[in-house]
Amino acid sequence: MGVNFPISPSSLSEGFLTNVLEKTPFGFALMNGEYIVEFANDIWLEIAHKTRDEVIGKKFSDLFPETGEQIIPHCENVRKTGNAFHAPEFSIKLVRNGVLQDVYFNFIYHPVYNESGNFQCFVTVAMEVPEMIEIKTKVKEDEERLRLATESSHTATWELNLLTREVIHSHYLSEIFGYGSDELVSHQQLRSHLSEYDRIHVVEKAFEEALKTGIYKYEAQITDKNGVEKWVATNGKVFFDGLGQPTRMLGVMQDISERKKSEILLKQSHHQLNTAMEATKLGTFDMDPESLQKYNFSPRFLEIFGYDATKETIGSNILEKHIHKNFIKTRAEALREAKETGDLYYQTKIVLRDGSVKWIELYGRLLPPANGSKAYISGTVRDITDLKNFEEKISASEKKYRFLADSMPQMVWIGEPDGKLTYFNKSTLDYSGKDYNHFIDGNGWLEIVHPEEQKENLRLWEKSVKTKKPFAYEHRFRNKHNEYRWFMSRAYPELDELGNVTKWVGTSTDIDEMKRQENQKNDFIKMANHELKTPVTTIKGYVQLLKKMRGDSEDKFLVNSLNTIENQVNKLTVLIGDLLDISRMESGKLPLNKREFSLLKLVTETIEDIKASEQSHQINFELKHTTDVEVYGDKERITQVLNNLLTNAIKYSPLATVVNVKLYVEKNHAVVSVEDFGIGMDGKELKKIFERFYRVSGDDEETFPGFGIGLFIVKDIMDRHDGKIWVESEKNKGSKFYFSLPIFTNL
Ligand code: ADP
Repeated sequence: MGVNFPISPSSLSEGFLTNVLEKTPFGFALMNGEYIVEFANDIWLEIAHKTRDEVIGKKFSDLFPETGEQIIPHCENVRKTGNAFHAPEFSIKLVRNGVLQDVYFNFIYHPVYNESGNFQCFVTVAMEVPEMIEIKTKVKEDEERLRLATESSHTATWELNLLTREVIHSHYLSEIFGYGSDELVSHQQLRSHLSEYDRIHVVEKAFEEALKTGIYKYEAQITDKNGVEKWVATNGKVFFDGLGQPTRMLGVMQDISERKKSEILLKQSHHQLNTAMEATKLGTFDMDPESLQKYNFSPRFLEIFGYDATKETIGSNILEKHIHKNFIKTRAEALREAKETGDLYYQTKIVLRDGSVKWIELYGRLLPPANGSKAYISGTVRDITDLKNFEEKISASEKKYRFLADSMPQMVWIGEPDGKLTYFNKSTLDYSGKDYNHFIDGNGWLEIVHPEEQKENLRLWEKSVKTKKPFAYEHRFRNKHNEYRWFMSRAYPELDELGNVTKWVGTSTDIDEMKRQENQKNDFIKMANHELKTPVTTIKGYVQLLKKMRGDSEDKFLVNSLNTIENQVNKLTVLIGDLLDISRMESGKLPLNKREFSLLKLVTETIEDIKASEQSHQINFELKHTTDVEVYGDKERITQVLNNLLTNAIKYSPLATVVNVKLYVEKNHAVVSVEDFGIGMDGKELKKIFERFYRVSGDDEETFPGFGIGLFIVKDIMDRHDGKIWVESEKNKGSKFYFSLPIFTNL
């Protein structure tokens, strides 16, 4: 809108108005249609930083090249529309009171029209707006400061329009919810990240509350856009309009996941502590170390002291009242130490009101004064009566066993899981004449072992320790007179529930006498064997000679007698051979002459041989899965094995007529089975038949001749061929013996 200016610019120069305008407290200038400055008062010149001579008659755009360009199009508009143009908040540097300052002005460009309505000139008014600008700057600065503060303290800010539900928020809020920092997230989106429970029970509740109270506050769990679970805390304020209607909310939000995590951890550890307390039945107390008065007890504490925590109250001198008099000193000593070291620990007996005695254990820690409270000892008490009783029992029983061990003539020794021996009974020390330390120092005990057995002894012991398998070895120990005697040593590992060795318990038994007798026996057998062999061989030779000379005689009695003699002499030869084998086996001197040979040939030949002397049974042979196999071993000994199984099969099936033999291949082993349909054996017997001199006892067996050494030798032969022997049998049905050997070549 135009302003009618009553006087023409030229007539103002001397006039009254000129004077007035010169003195106005705001800048005032006139510019004609050509943008030439025609008038400027002092303030205007001051603002423009120019002298009157510099500006009057000059073009505006020449005077202010930078702003002029911008202003002129607006002025054109002013001229066209007649509306004034406001150029607000121009910042201009001015020297005021000798100081260069930023000063802010609002410039207004007004069009001036003459009476006939024609454009005459522009009036430029410059008004200083110091307060407003300052406030704005301040607000801006404050805002910036707030933004920095909130961002650096990881606080997001938000503003919610309660009428439109539009939300404006800081970048950090987007980040909390897993969005890009520039992404704007709607109010609805934000809510969708809340857990269902928290949304209904926490946030919406807090929201309703806020509308009433004006304060909005909650902590809730969210799952952010990337699926990360977080905790957030909000603090807000509601703004109401003049009618008391809530219009907007303003607030901050923080990611408190870390804090929550540690809170949860703290809660958990509290819980764990409580559970541990419960489980260990620990009582707790707080105590003033100066007065020794307790001022806090847990119910369990009271319970230990025989009080009913739900009904009774007690004085703080409870310990003084109940401590067993023998422990008063112990306690005083422990308390003195606690003051020095900060740790309280002692065990004591207490006497309860009913006269019964208990053992308790106290642990405590001296806590330094804090927050105005005095230093105090916080501790736990545990009822250890059962433990103490148990310990006493154990130590009594240990004493008993030690006494027993020491009074035993046998040597007893105990080792650690790693094989180090830590205990030797009195017999060991007495026998060797060494002292205890000598034995436990390194492998000191090894010194009394005969040098010939030391290496093997150590190897077997280390093997047992490694495999946790029992140890057994026969060796000689040197006694205090420097003589060696034979001992049988055995050790067994004591295992815990996890199968770990807790200790080794070993014994060494003097078997010297036995050994000597055994040697005598072996010598005797050897000698007897030799002495028997000569006459038997002689008899055999004569029988064969007689058979040759008179075998076709008419005299049936003579021929039968000769055959019987020959049969029995053969059996005698086998028996003598077995006896010799046994004595050789025991001294580890059973010689083996190993080479590869055909198992098929061996089996068929052995069957043929047996058939020649035993006609009572038919021996069937079946070959499976193979045409032949070669094995590596002592052919004579393997023949002996099969021979033994076949003669047993015949011997122990007197009422049967058939024996079945099979040869087959399984994996890389050749298996031979011998099956009979005779008296069989039950499970108990089966386990023992491979033992030396074992014979099944029963009415039947009495009638079967034998020594009970055949299978023992068979087992030993198989062991020494890396072979196996086993049996399936059923009483009165029959037996099936198997032996297997590793295949040398599969032909
Ligand atoms: P023996 O000289 O007594 O036959 P062995 O060592 O050969 O000695 O056998 C040991 C025991 O095993 C025998 O006494 C017998 O009781 C039992 N036995 C062996 N083979 C058979 C079998 N085929 N049937 C039943 N019992 C058998």
